[in-house]
Amino acid sequence: MEDGGLVVMSAPANPFRCPPGPYERASLIAHYLKTRKPKSKLILLDAKDKFSKQPLFEAAWKELYAGVLEFVPLSAGGQVTEVDAKQKTFKTDFETYRAAVGNVIPPQRAARIAVDAGCADKSGWCPIDPVTFESKLIPGVHVIGDAAIAGAMPKSAFSANAQAKVCAEAVLALIAGQEPVEPRLINTCYSLVAPGYGISIAGVFKPSNGLLADVEGAGGISPLNAPNAAREQEAKYAEAWYDVITKATFG
Ligand SMILES: Cc1cc2nc3c(=O)[nH]c(=O)nc-3n(C[C@H](O)[C@H](O)[C@H](O)COP(=O)(O)OP(=O)(O)OC[C@H]3O[C@@H](n4cnc5c(N)ncnc54)[C@H](O)[C@@H]3O)c2cc1C
Repeated sequence: MEDGGLVVMSAPANPFRCPPGPYERASLIAHYLKTRKPKSKLILLDAKDKFSKQPLFEAAWKELYAGVLEFVPLSAGGQVTEVDAKQKTFKTDFETYRAAVGNVIPPQRAARIAVDAGCADKSGWCPIDPVTFESKLIPGVHVIGDAAIAGAMPKSAFSANAQAKVCAEAVLALIAGQEPVEPRLINTCYSLVAPGYGISIAGVFKPSNGLLADVEGAGGISPLNAPNAAREQEAKYAEAWYDVITKATFG
């Protein structure tokens, strides 16, 4: 892309995998533009008004990417209704944006294998028992990770990993004819807003009314007015978490 080109991104409505993902991606694209193509701009079109870690992202965008990153939420006409890959256009109800580089994050659902197995409901995702992760539609099948409807628990690798352990223990208990233990699950999602600038959200979840609900008072987001040293520290935590999860998952 020539310096001066317009990058257009679209983010989908909830639910989708990695709730802070599009905003982290937009931040890092904006960082690239600011440092390498300073006449360029990024427009982020969103099918929502609210998103994960929003106060932290918006404060960082104001501080770091004013004039580089423009956020257009649903209420300002951010919902994309049509994309033309050949013309590189994004259409909303109000405007057509012509991109030099476009990145569409489309609406999401569980993979076809989950639908074919009969585990997905009309929403496209799989309802599960929050204690055992057994499908509410197909007994004997357990669904974890992005495909599952896990209530307040976000679709993340951290969540999928925690759910896998809880689910395996529940399956062992069921096979042994025992009552599965009611779990408490944790999620943390780190995001880089720029190199060396990290922010995070953490949550603790427990079964409640057939779903997983937030444990009130547990978790939260990074402080809004933290010093640079705290953002640097969180960027290091993000890298350390990535090392741990990839080693734990793939060996
Ligand atoms: C840009 C981005 C950034 C992210 N950042 C983070 C982060 O910082 N922290 C975090 O915790 N999470 C993050 N996530 C989310 C994380 O990647 C997912 O939540 C996680 O991978 C979910 O794991 P899963 O096993 O449920 O699904 P997946 O990782 O999608 O695994 C499902 C697998 O099933 C395979 N499959 C599908 N159909 C079939 C079939 N018929 N036969 C055989 N195999 C099949 C797929 O190919 C895939 O490999 C991010 C996601 C994105 C897109």
